[in-house]
Amino acid sequence: MAQILDGKWVRDEILKEWKPRAAALSAQRRQPGLAVILVGNDPASEIYVRNKERASLEMGIYSEKYTPPADISTKDLLALVESLNARVEIDGILIQTPLPAHIDTRQVLVAVRPDKDVDGFHPVNVGNLVANVPGPRPCTPAGIVQLLKKYEIPIAGQHAVVVGRSNIVGKPMALLLLHENATVTICHSRTANLVTECRRADILVAAMGRPAMVTADYIKPGATVIDVGINRISDTAAIFGDHPSRSLIGDVHPVDVMQASGAYTPVPGGVGPLTIAMLMVNTIRAAEVHLGCSA
Ligand code: NAP
Repeated sequence: MAQILDGKWVRDEILKEWKPRAAALSAQRRQPGLAVILVGNDPASEIYVRNKERASLEMGIYSEKYTPPADISTKDLLALVESLNARVEIDGILIQTPLPAHIDTRQVLVAVRPDKDVDGFHPVNVGNLVANVPGPRPCTPAGIVQLLKKYEIPIAGQHAVVVGRSNIVGKPMALLLLHENATVTICHSRTANLVTECRRADILVAAMGRPAMVTADYIKPGATVIDVGINRISDTAAIFGDHPSRSLIGDVHPVDVMQASGAYTPVPGGVGPLTIAMLMVNTIRAAEVHLGCSA
């Protein structure tokens, strides 16, 4: 039977490790500070932001939330970012995406000062990631590396296959695994022989946003399978058959992965909890740098 890689346990371990560092900053200087900007009323984004606020409170991070209306102009949003860039007690600025279509998302994300870019999306930090020099790393892939390490799953010398090449997940995931000395293959929608490529993976990361696409034939027997996907489906019977079903599923077939892999992250409860934990880590680390207290 495959081992379940429990993202909630890993999240709790990460938060337990970093909470004293936030407390030490508060005792010596000031609380780490995080500003979150949520434009408009997207219900999913509202839930994500609420969870981030809750985690900040739990970690002793001072947090501020800005909720400009959906029709805010790019210019006014840039002015808000600039005002937060200038405030010393704000260590991290998070702009919840997606932004409304009329806003120039790239211009807004690039306006965040690189040392306050707790998402790790700024081109300076992307460059730092490529060059493997310190800097904030994108939260979801950084959390996955933490999960592999906490479960002592070997990465060095292993063949990792990442399906998906987005700037948020696929590309940074591939680079982080490369820096951990995996041999990395990146696959995408134009990859020929995707099944064959995936089946060569000791560590398979699925990040396509395609419900249950990775079936047993994609999985090398005993491989570690990391499912980043979050998809809501209505026809659960088609996927789960006689097994207990749920409407939230990943990019990996939830029944096949139990039978074919050696270890896997479930959806929900696998990768999801790691993202906010790493946001907390990036914020505390930014505060340590700002306050000259790096551990
Ligand atoms: P994205 O920007 O839409 O990128 C999807 C990637 O998958 C693209 O590179 C695309 O290839 C590739 N792809 C799509 N269909 C494919 C196919 N049939 N075969 C092979 N590759 C295919 O998505 P994302 O932002 O990276 O997110 C991916 C998934 O992770 C989504 O379900 C998202 O909700 C989830 N997610 C979860 C978390 C979390 O915290 N758990 C965080 C972020 C994202 P092309 O480049 O060729 O188009």
